[in-house]
Amino acid sequence: MKIYALEITSECNLNCSYCPQPTMERKKEHMPLEMYQKALSYPFWYDMLVAHLFGEAFLHPELEKIVSYAHDKDLAFGFSSNMRDFSLEYFNHLRKKGLSFLVISYHIPEAQKWYKYLTKHYPEFPLIANELEQKHDWAGQVDKNIKGNIKKQVADTKPSETSDCIFHKFDLVTISAQGDIYACCLDAEGLSNQGSLFDYSPEEFSNMKNDIYFELCKLCPMTNKEQDLYHLEEQHSLYAEQISNYRKRNM
Ligand code: SF4
Ligand code: SF4
Repeated sequence: MKIYALEITSECNLNCSYCPQPTMERKKEHMPLEMYQKALSYPFWYDMLVAHLFGEAFLHPELEKIVSYAHDKDLAFGFSSNMRDFSLEYFNHLRKKGLSFLVISYHIPEAQKWYKYLTKHYPEFPLIANELEQKHDWAGQVDKNIKGNIKKQVADTKPSETSDCIFHKFDLVTISAQGDIYACCLDAEGLSNQGSLFDYSPEEFSNMKNDIYFELCKLCPMTNKEQDLYHLEEQHSLYAEQISNYRKRNM
């Protein structure tokens, strides 16, 4: 297995109706620094540390250290943000520490303004806008009438021999703020929880397979045909290469 994303915090400063986070019963907390440091010994997909799942990463009070430690391990560090409490000064500070990319999600109007500002003034910095233009219901975790945000429509079929997700295909998992292994980035409550990452050595973990099929798979909006999964993997690889080039030039 490899880590696709690691949730440095499950707290958020917004309350989006189309997201499972506001009503999530799983504990909302920041990942302790010691736990985070231990997690850095495990393999990350394309050596990228994507530091969000269900929460706003800028809220973590020790973000500066979190960025630095990833940089010291030669991991490209970044996350998705709603930009609600974004500060340019802090952004510049984190860039110097090793912040290597940012995904801006358009949940509030300020996000779009910041995206325009940053692309103009930091043209080299790897920035992605998540415009949330298509909707899904987080595999049934939110009301179907107020669907959330991903570039796929709601699916009503489970993974089959001809269709599955990148998590199963490439043995990727996510790690919650509690340090637990989840099957994918859709699982807000930890229905697929496989126990603590730290129950396994990094070597044992890297030899494991993601064969985790659970309730949400039946309504998953993220399944694709095999060739499309390879296409997604290729896109990810290209993006990782761009970020790596940015890091070589600037760090
Ligand atoms: S969609 Fe993002 S910003 Fe909105 S509540 Fe969920 S985690 Fe927070
Ligand atoms: S819900 Fe199941 S099929 Fe969908 S992304 Fe998660 S693990 Fe994959």
